[in-house]
Amino acid sequence: MTAFPWQQPVYNDLVRRRRSTGLPHALLLTGLAGIGKHELALYTAKWLLCLQDGDEPCGQCHSCQLWNAGTHPDFLLCQPEDGSRQIRIEAIRRVNDFLAQTPQISRCQVVNLRPVEVMNTNSANALLKTLEEPAGESYLLLETERFGSVLPTIRSRCQRIALNPPAADESLQWLAAQGYAAEQAEPALRLNHGAPLKALSWLQGEQSDQQQRWLEQLQQWTQGTAPLQLIAEQWSKQLDLQDVMGWLYSFLSDCLKANMGIADDQLIYGPQVRATLGGAMPPAAKLITLHDRVKEILAALLSGAASYNKQLVIESLLLEWRDLVNPQ
Ligand SMILES: [Zn+2]
Repeated sequence: MTAFPWQQPVYNDLVRRRRSTGLPHALLLTGLAGIGKHELALYTAKWLLCLQDGDEPCGQCHSCQLWNAGTHPDFLLCQPEDGSRQIRIEAIRRVNDFLAQTPQISRCQVVNLRPVEVMNTNSANALLKTLEEPAGESYLLLETERFGSVLPTIRSRCQRIALNPPAADESLQWLAAQGYAAEQAEPALRLNHGAPLKALSWLQGEQSDQQQRWLEQLQQWTQGTAPLQLIAEQWSKQLDLQDVMGWLYSFLSDCLKANMGIADDQLIYGPQVRATLGGAMPPAAKLITLHDRVKEILAALLSGAASYNKQLVIESLLLEWRDLVNPQ
């Protein structure tokens, strides 16, 4: 079994092709963030390195044991290091040096390079020769979520494996197995383009410290104990406006549920929702308007089409919120 059930058909195809025609030297796994490209690359690497030559990595042989220990000498992971967003030329030189050696344990060597679009031109050029003339039996498993941003010279030397998000039913089933009912999982999938891993981290993120801080700040703003500008400034400093909006969206969904009389234990934020709303419930219509607005902003952000002045967007939403809970 692969890491995730929805990857099985793609993986089976790799197995079949390796048996019949052999696999190409360089594979480029493409698809949205959060659908498990990396996990599939790792599983495939383990299988390619396994000494048993089965349809799955055996888990028992010397190679699989080294793999499980994270010390396989015939595997190299190449990704941005030290907080950098780029794969530097030194890293590509290490890949080339690695592939110039012969395998130590397995019959082949495997390099996993991710994400491939963050190589600069020098790095890409350094990789080209290796992509063109593989030394010995080796495989390069490359990953990208932005196929269009991969240099054509790289693209043309790889075979593309396009991974699609699983069908909604399959994602819901998987999220249910992770402990999330359809009621929570459905909006999470919608907000994350149907990518199950991203939906899961979004759901898990609900409890994160950061979101707790945002909630406390919203409470302070509601009670008038923190100034608008300060909060808006802090929120807009987040790397991704999407994160704040995703959180605000799910919090407002909770407010709507509370407004409909749904009990605290059915809410993601539990009793904090009513505590933040204060004594009187705001009118449902106003709540829905704000909820819709955040949803629109979020959709525009997710589509990549929007460019907002973060601070202004946040300030106007916060003002709308306070007008909602403390009508003048
Ligand atoms: Zn094995």
